[in-house]
Amino acid sequence: MSLFDIFTLEPQDVPRVETENRRIVTKIPVPESIDILNELRKYEPISMSGQPPVVWDKAEGVYVYDAYGNKWLDWSSGVLVANAGHSNPEIVEAVRKQLDKKLMHNYCFPNTVRLNLAKKLVEITPEKLDKVFILTTGSEAVEAALKMSRKWGKNISDTKKIIISFEGAFHGRTLGAQMIGGIPALKEWIPNLDPDIYQIPFPDGYWTENTDFSLFEEKLKEFNVNSNDVCAVIVESYQGGGASFAPAEYMQNLRNWCDKNNVVLIFDEVQASFGRSGKLFSYEHYNVEPDVVTLGKGISSGLPVSAVVGKSEIMNVFPQNAMTSTHTGNPITNAAAVANIEFILNNNIVEQAAATGEILHSGLNELKNKYNDIIGTVQGKGMVAGVHIVKKGKKEPDKELAFKIVRKCYEKGLLMFAPVGKATIKISPPLITTEEQIKEGISVLDEAIAESIK
Ligand code: PMP
Repeated sequence: MSLFDIFTLEPQDVPRVETENRRIVTKIPVPESIDILNELRKYEPISMSGQPPVVWDKAEGVYVYDAYGNKWLDWSSGVLVANAGHSNPEIVEAVRKQLDKKLMHNYCFPNTVRLNLAKKLVEITPEKLDKVFILTTGSEAVEAALKMSRKWGKNISDTKKIIISFEGAFHGRTLGAQMIGGIPALKEWIPNLDPDIYQIPFPDGYWTENTDFSLFEEKLKEFNVNSNDVCAVIVESYQGGGASFAPAEYMQNLRNWCDKNNVVLIFDEVQASFGRSGKLFSYEHYNVEPDVVTLGKGISSGLPVSAVVGKSEIMNVFPQNAMTSTHTGNPITNAAAVANIEFILNNNIVEQAAATGEILHSGLNELKNKYNDIIGTVQGKGMVAGVHIVKKGKKEPDKELAFKIVRKCYEKGLLMFAPVGKATIKISPPLITTEEQIKEGISVLDEAIAESIK
């Protein structure tokens, strides 16, 4: 049996749910939706069928609707995308206006929307980051950041080419992003791994108990890496797989180490930014500044756009037309990103996420106390949390139980994506979710855990 069989396509009788925030009035999955689910399986690779079998028809605000009368309180934000809420009216309006203007595409030719987005990103990031390269996906932003850092290193010396990343890291699914990632199973398909990439344990404090920066330096010694040969360190501001933060002191030491050795420090904020963790950017929790930051997901709350923001000396290493992409600065997606950033800043969404996040984390910590033997740790900050499910009384991930809990939740009208990382139930509601909605979600999760361990 595969874990994904837990998300069965056999319609189940489930209790009816009817609250202001959730409505489940059919069997789950919905019998009428089974043909659609099966046809998707027929026409798409199997890799596309790993999420709960809820056929999205509409998503608005903090809710996801199917076409059969059911309504879910969304704790996924898609995949940490809909920070400003699904189909946010201000973003929809900005997109509509841009469509009405009749400019849907213009490659790398100049346009004013791209200028607005680039300016905005420079304004809201640290002063020394003064250039923006706009792309489409998070993986592409990561690839571009790696490419620029390597070229920057090569300009200094032929041996300055080593890139350091972290065990357990996820930076995307393209070749470079996957090689730099720290999940060995995801790299099995790659015959020749780049020999100049090394991974260091990520100091989350639970799975890696040693959070002292000396571990970083010890590992480099173990790998026989000369610090002068390192061109870049790339780190997720919090590790997505577990919503795991490092101690601030560790990151400050890392910043100092990079300065001392003339190394580009890249923060991968593809999922961590635009208010997600209760700060506009998650690196702010550490009181350090990146040299390069990669952005995506919550940058637009819906349309595919990503960006690399960095220092000129790194961003300018490629000459005219040597670093471009077909959809760089697409006017529609860029209009959405500008409207999204304005919405977040003008409505104090970051502060709201920090406050609501307190409620979320205090609720989850209560659940951790209640189910102490199967919740190993709760990590994250603000409106992102990782509930790490373990085998009863052991420090060993329990994926099956994590899947069962997620299934119980969607049967009850609380939607999360499939467990990630070791066996993490990832919670990432739209940032506009209210305290009362968070409390309702916590009580649903409580019921789901209780029923799953019975
Ligand atoms: N970096 C991080 C930290 C991510 O979380 C992700 C996506 N989960 C990516 C990169 C890749 O982004 P995309 O899926 O848009 O390519």
